[in-house]
Amino acid sequence: MIYLDNAATTPMIQEVKDEICQAFEIYGNPSSTHAAGRQAKNIVEQARRTIAQRVKSKPAEITFTSCGTEAANLILKSAVSSLEIKHIISSKLEHKCVLESLKQLEELYDVRISWVEHHSDGSVDLENLEKQLQECESPVLVSIMHANNEIGMINPVKEIAALAHKYDSLYFADMVQTLGHYDINFEEVPVDFASASAHKFHGPKGIGFAYVRQPHKLFPQISGGGQERNLRAGTENVPYIAGLAKAFEMALVDLEEDQKYVVELKKYAHDKIEENFPEAKFHAYSDDAKKSLFGLLSVSLPFRNTMLSFELDLHKIAISQGSACSSGAVKNSPVLSQILPDEVLESTTPLRISFSKLNSKSDVDALVEALVAICAKHA
Ligand code: PLP
Repeated sequence: MIYLDNAATTPMIQEVKDEICQAFEIYGNPSSTHAAGRQAKNIVEQARRTIAQRVKSKPAEITFTSCGTEAANLILKSAVSSLEIKHIISSKLEHKCVLESLKQLEELYDVRISWVEHHSDGSVDLENLEKQLQECESPVLVSIMHANNEIGMINPVKEIAALAHKYDSLYFADMVQTLGHYDINFEEVPVDFASASAHKFHGPKGIGFAYVRQPHKLFPQISGGGQERNLRAGTENVPYIAGLAKAFEMALVDLEEDQKYVVELKKYAHDKIEENFPEAKFHAYSDDAKKSLFGLLSVSLPFRNTMLSFELDLHKIAISQGSACSSGAVKNSPVLSQILPDEVLESTTPLRISFSKLNSKSDVDALVEALVAICAKHA
């Protein structure tokens, strides 16, 4: 199988699997004070220190969660319950974990949600954000993702943080697509809160973390014991926490080289698709890793085929169409709906090609060959 869906999840690398297997041998509960418990606690705290060192934060600012979705829920919901946030400015291009949390907050707590405007590539319009912040009477929470998981555009997080702080407001950046892919440190990127997920950088599924800058104090969304400094109750997933830290560490070792390699693949795919489908429309495309996710190529192909990802599956290519399927009905992607007119959405087929360092140019060749064959079959 050719795997080109790395923005959905990445395969675990061997070093991470080994780390997890080793940690499975340590069966103590990190909350127990005996030797077996202390061994487990050591793994958790060492993992926290590893991550904190890489992102230049304090270990206490890292809270392990079950995934990126939980980290976003924790931050957004406790900002309302413990920081008395009554107004959140966000973007309609956010991931569902943010959009659905905001919907709940609006319904249950009467929180006001306003939407920032964005440019045609999907990136946030800073002037509009500043205008909205200026008009706010009390401090707000700005919730705008670092990079979009469907089209790959990168938002200027430093500038967003500066604007939020200029108006005494707070900033949460969903960094699920960037932490572990870019060398981000929280001394230089002054967000108040951020979220990450291990399975996006060759770690295990079902583990992530929330970054909560001190001295902000959030309220737990899961009640119980005092784990994670009272912020997230429940016995810690020790092996996966070890795997998360190992994956994070490994992801940053040859980062520059890996980025260069994957950018080349992305450019190669872009050029080959353009050559075979000259009318294809690329979204937020750049071969500059700072401007769009280096591992993600989003394109609308100049024909309509809602079954394309199924057909590619028959060619043994795993890829995402950038549209959600439910009970057989294919819906247009909510993200693309924000940046493309209806007539383009209705006459084209979106494809999200997402690479990792484990891919090669032959994967791209196979994809383009399959696309040409599928297109010819339906002509
Ligand atoms: N935020 C973004 C931008 C994502 O791409 C994803 C996963 O696709 C999530 C949040 C959710 O992360 P998780 O799968 O760990 O819940």
